[in-house]
Amino acid sequence: MKQFLNQWQETITENATPTFCVLPWIHMATRPNGDMRLCCSANASGAGTDHTVGLVKMENGQPANFATTTPLDAWNSDYMKSVRRTMMDGNIPSSCTKCFDEENKGVVSKRMWETTSWMDRGIKPSEMLNDTHLDGTYKNELKYLDLRLGHTCNVKCVMCSPHDSSKWVADWKVLAPQLEDPEVKRQMQWDKESFNNKWHENEIFWDQLYKQIPFLEEVYFAGGEPLMIKEHKKFIEEIVRSGHNTHIRLRYNTNGILVDEELIELWKHFALVKVGVSIDAHTDRNNYIRYPTHWETVERNLHMLDNTPDNIRPSIATAIQMFNIKHLPDFIHWKVTSNFRKVNTEVVKNVQVGGGLVNMHLLYIPTFLNIQNFPNDDKAEIRDKFMQFKGWLQDHANLDETFWQSNPYGWNRWEAMLNYMDSDSHVERLPGFKEYVTKLDAIRGISAKAVFPELAHLL
Ligand code: SF4
Repeated sequence: MKQFLNQWQETITENATPTFCVLPWIHMATRPNGDMRLCCSANASGAGTDHTVGLVKMENGQPANFATTTPLDAWNSDYMKSVRRTMMDGNIPSSCTKCFDEENKGVVSKRMWETTSWMDRGIKPSEMLNDTHLDGTYKNELKYLDLRLGHTCNVKCVMCSPHDSSKWVADWKVLAPQLEDPEVKRQMQWDKESFNNKWHENEIFWDQLYKQIPFLEEVYFAGGEPLMIKEHKKFIEEIVRSGHNTHIRLRYNTNGILVDEELIELWKHFALVKVGVSIDAHTDRNNYIRYPTHWETVERNLHMLDNTPDNIRPSIATAIQMFNIKHLPDFIHWKVTSNFRKVNTEVVKNVQVGGGLVNMHLLYIPTFLNIQNFPNDDKAEIRDKFMQFKGWLQDHANLDETFWQSNPYGWNRWEAMLNYMDSDSHVERLPGFKEYVTKLDAIRGISAKAVFPELAHLL
């Protein structure tokens, strides 16, 4: 793992500066409420964080919000120019500390994989730096959009909140006044009065983005649930109409429920379409976590995606949290024995995405669902389960050598998760976990105890 990190850091330093990241030169990202952010790592989505870190601010100190600010005004705002200048000087912008902290811990940061992947695709950082004015101004040509077009969603995942899901609002109205644990209360705060879910209907926003289509190389849609947003479909139809579809790749985070033949027909026109389907477990456990999903629909749509033309590359994205880590071996058993043709088979930078299994990322927020909260006995049980499962994987899954040796998303990832889990203890969060789950279950008329007997002693 370290070997990958060192190589990638060397490449970045040789071609730019040690703290260079390609994103401030090519990328524009939105939050579901229309605020522009530097990227999704600088400004983590979800409840409970300080939502202002990593937001692009305008000269009046307020976040650039696309209900009222145009994308190109924000692109060369003092904030964006300052981030570029800081990186050009070899320093770390204050919004970017998360990436550098991760790298110090030996984790592949978003800065590393984005910058080196874009370089593999032909981006030349030295030319970009030459083309940047001394004050940090850069040309109005966006290559990469990360669009979260509102919080409209058809599910209300247990780890989500009204920030990212409209479906959560009704439950939140009942739950929020009942919460007593101070930390759970704080993390479940949401200002329903100030949330604007209409900003993505702003015509000036789309006028400017439509004019960027000739420069675009990648558009990433997440949500809310992106497939519910009508402007998403209009935008990709316009790309096809303009003829620029052949040089644009699309990328999605979706719950996969609304994938249909009509959409697949449209995707066939693009250079590449990467569809990350968020699935956290199988059968009833996924239905609970991604409430109220029907497993049969998710599984059927995954098979539909698996039988599409080769430009469409499906993968499974899994958020590792208290609700699913004990079940992960069973989930991966399902994945392996489902014999998908191409789910998670894509190779990027010489390694298989998600190690050929599923893409796993740790859930940090809300903290009361984080895996460090488990008591020591549960942690030991999880470690044992993983080690037993390792033997099954070796015997039954057709994984290449890199999975066991060098792929940072292979077995290294499993071990990194265990090490992370054991590196700190937060049992003090367990009362908050119990309160949150018990009260939410009562509102939804479901029972975590019944679906997750392995967690019953904590509920
Ligand atoms: S360094 Fe990290 S946080 Fe900063 S823009 Fe790049 S990816 Fe985002």
